[in-house]
Amino acid sequence: MDPVMLVPVGPWWSVLAQAIGIYLLVDFISGIIHWSEDRYGAETTPLIGNAIKKNILHHHRPRHITRISLWEAMSPTLFISLGIFAVGTLLGLFGWQLVLLSLLGMNVNTVHRWAHSIPKDLPWFIRALQKARLIQTPQHHAIHHGLPRVTHYCAFTNWVNPVLEVFRFWRGVEWCIAVLTGIRPREDDSLPGAGPTPQWILDLDEEYKVSARERRAAES
Ligand SMILES: [Zn+2]
Ligand SMILES: [Zn+2]
Repeated sequence: MDPVMLVPVGPWWSVLAQAIGIYLLVDFISGIIHWSEDRYGAETTPLIGNAIKKNILHHHRPRHITRISLWEAMSPTLFISLGIFAVGTLLGLFGWQLVLLSLLGMNVNTVHRWAHSIPKDLPWFIRALQKARLIQTPQHHAIHHGLPRVTHYCAFTNWVNPVLEVFRFWRGVEWCIAVLTGIRPREDDSLPGAGPTPQWILDLDEEYKVSARERRAAES
């Protein structure tokens, strides 16, 4: 790790283009991880079953992410980013680009939490970042939580999801996986009519005193 590599070199427009590309790449990576958890993960999946459980909970109770501590909310993306940084460094990719990718990546779930927060609970500069569309807005993220919850997986910006949806990217990848392996996406048990809410989620409702109104809203 040579600190000299942390200084961007080259014309300003090239550095800016690379930085924008990394910002969009972070969003795309967030989409790949989120999509794979939503569509193919299960509570029983070895090693990551616990993380999948958090995804399942998030679809049933989207506002739960605002009730847990900031550390609990951001730690999954923090550890994934540290992993990407370590692998990237081992592959000889250490430089300002890898550091920027890791720093932005660490904050994906924090940005996601802000997208679920009530605006008046957020500091003015976070609301300003959302208004400027530099981070994902609540309105944009709400599309993922609308029915049937199979689009808009990228959780960092407003810019990558529309492009992926135009090309029906996720459906195309799922089709390829089904053709090549026979594996099909799992059913989302948070969808209306998919059966009763799991008991462990109802237990959490008690613990966090979730109102009946919020439960009804989450289940429609
Ligand atoms: Zn999801
Ligand atoms: Zn969400």
